[in-house]
Amino acid sequence: MKTELNPPERTLMGPGPSDVHPRVLRAMTTPLLGHLDPAFLTLMNETMELLREVYQTNHQVTIPMSGTGSAGMETIFVNLVEPGDTVIVGVNGLFGTRMVDVAERCGATVVSVSADWGDTIEPAAIEKALEEHPQAKLVAVVHAETSTGVRQPLQQISEIVHRHNSLFVCDMVTSLGGIPTDIDKLQIDAAYSGTQKCLSAPPGLAPVTLSEQAVDVIRNRKTKVQSWYLDLSMIQNYWSDERSYHHTAPITMIYALRESLRLITEEGVDQVFDRHKRNGLALHDGLEAMGLELLVDKEYRLYQLTSVCIPEGVNDTQVRKDLLDDYGLEIGGGLGELKGKVWRIGLMGYNANPNKVTLVLTALGSALRKQGVDVNVAAGIEAADRAFEQPVAK
Ligand SMILES: *Cc1c(COP(=O)(O)O)cnc(C)c1O
Repeated sequence: MKTELNPPERTLMGPGPSDVHPRVLRAMTTPLLGHLDPAFLTLMNETMELLREVYQTNHQVTIPMSGTGSAGMETIFVNLVEPGDTVIVGVNGLFGTRMVDVAERCGATVVSVSADWGDTIEPAAIEKALEEHPQAKLVAVVHAETSTGVRQPLQQISEIVHRHNSLFVCDMVTSLGGIPTDIDKLQIDAAYSGTQKCLSAPPGLAPVTLSEQAVDVIRNRKTKVQSWYLDLSMIQNYWSDERSYHHTAPITMIYALRESLRLITEEGVDQVFDRHKRNGLALHDGLEAMGLELLVDKEYRLYQLTSVCIPEGVNDTQVRKDLLDDYGLEIGGGLGELKGKVWRIGLMGYNANPNKVTLVLTALGSALRKQGVDVNVAAGIEAADRAFEQPVAK
């Protein structure tokens, strides 16, 4: 006999999954409905409406795909790309390299526009790639690069992409519910996200949104979408008035998503963005006042995910083990070329609050002192506290 499930208590402040809101957990204990029950169809419609509000779009096709954020990435590429197409991908972190891999598997010729990990993609570099490859079907960038903590500005790139009659695709896995996504205002043709980052829900759904132009591109495909499971034209039939069976919807996850979106709209979408900003800025000030260095320039820092440089001579693994053992606190290590060089601290959704800022400053300070690093925790807490007193600038 195995023992009853009893995982240790954790605070999840890494790059995801992040802690789930108690109301979302409660929603997940609600009894199931059948996936074609009229009562469930009403809940699906409400979920789509809420999703449009949080994504800041009127796009008709705004639906949660079954699977984690990566299924969202795959959905966008397998549906928009046909073998032989050219696509341009901005690569300034791990998730850019993933998009390249996924697009190549769709049979695309991929043109990478690279920048150092920790920097943003330059609009001029995207324009140059479009001039050299005028047939490019789409341009994709990562809005919130969770592997580095960079926020990619989108406005200028969107203008360039549309001037060249291409489609603009954004990875918004860590953006949705954390920072404005402005799908309509920024004319984003296709975006995908996940429930486990800033939505305060568990991993399991990948909300996607597509413009009319993107839907037209799918409608005019010459070849079948290579993935049966992620074929949007069939999935759309289930999420539209037709409601024909494709695969059994993960009912409980849709309950969870609906509740998480309800929480965000109840608080107010703009208020939720402000809360992430206020807490993120306080964490940045606190870490710097403690004497630590942040990877990303102030102007392009995400609020919901912060990369801290690991001080010289510090044992990365031991620090994260101490945080877990002494404080039940999980933060992330570096990925790819940043492995061993940074820690990644998430303040996502439910965790974007002052308690968690104070917790991570205190816990990290104590773990670093064990390593013989002279950090000033009191100065960190005070700087964070002072930041909380400042009004949030728009
Ligand atoms: C987490 C993440 C993904 C992948 O999502 P999974 O839920 O792990 O499949 C993709 N892109 C970005 C930017 C992410 O942060």
